[in-house]
Amino acid sequence: MNEDIKYIDIKSEIPLMGVDFLGVIDRGTNIIEVKPLTLCNLRCKYCFVSSGDYKTNFIVNSHSLVEKVKEIAKIKGNYDLEIHLAPYGEMLLYKELFKLLNNLSEIEGVSTISMQSNGLLLSKNIIEKLKKNHLTRINISLNSLKEATDCYLCDCAHYDVNKLLRNIYTLLDCNIQVLLAPVWFPGENKKDIEEIIELVLKLRGVGYSKQQIQIGIQKYLIYKTGRTLKKIKPKSWDYFYLQLSKLEKKYSIKLKLGPRDFGIHKRTHVSTMDLKKDDLLKIKIVSRGRWMNECIGKINDTLGIKILLKKPIVFSEQLIGKVIVAKIIKANYRDNILTAIFPYK
Ligand code: SF4
Repeated sequence: MNEDIKYIDIKSEIPLMGVDFLGVIDRGTNIIEVKPLTLCNLRCKYCFVSSGDYKTNFIVNSHSLVEKVKEIAKIKGNYDLEIHLAPYGEMLLYKELFKLLNNLSEIEGVSTISMQSNGLLLSKNIIEKLKKNHLTRINISLNSLKEATDCYLCDCAHYDVNKLLRNIYTLLDCNIQVLLAPVWFPGENKKDIEEIIELVLKLRGVGYSKQQIQIGIQKYLIYKTGRTLKKIKPKSWDYFYLQLSKLEKKYSIKLKLGPRDFGIHKRTHVSTMDLKKDDLLKIKIVSRGRWMNECIGKINDTLGIKILLKKPIVFSEQLIGKVIVAKIIKANYRDNILTAIFPYK
């Protein structure tokens, strides 16, 4: 694991919205997504955010995150809110996790707290603390019940799938909902996915409800900035849904899940500047990024932006504090995630 870590707290100049890999993301629904860190205990071959490879990792102080979530919750309305902890890394590596969960649960209107995890760091003791601190659901990225396949996909020498399964039982017994979220790699783990479906049916068969144990199969997607399994070509969405339909029929189980299945609905969007692709913008550089060709800019006190540095420029501390003009290359109005390039000519 890389030891170059940047800690972000209330005194840091880095705004907690606008940057994809840290802080808080609002996608205009009742879910507020929180990204507290970028560290991971794995280095999966298929990781779409290339976690585990970063030159600099980031850890955001829990107090800053909670204050930001409070602000957003007020704008959205203090009712029926879900906080989803979804880092570019492993949530269980976050030292302030229990404090974060507890403080988030005390925010008026927060009814659900969910988190993503690869689950390998779970233990009975940790699960009890997750329960005590009000975690509602954990989404576990388990791709196979066979250790060898998991080791291959996650690029690791040991993957204790039996321990993970025991912990899944413990989670369920502690009344924490579990969503198993395997990625379907065409030609690689179809049989494994069927075994995971069978596991879910078995658990439901012994009395755990459909809400307590769920399965959400994910499509394998390739991202420019992610790692890829070289030999696997992703299939179309149509093909993916057709496969899910076939499995739904075969196992009499619902596999195509949509926002409604998770109680997701539209809510007020936190208003930010109406920025568009190709806009030129004055930005103050406030931090290095995860890679040498990346840094973080500040647009104003609440909005940050990821800046990609064009060759031959690489990040150096001399850039901190400089005000530059960069061109926006990505401005998604739905989630306010912003990316700019510098220099743009
Ligand atoms: S896929 Fe998840 S567990 Fe694997 S390296 Fe990426 S963030 Fe970590």
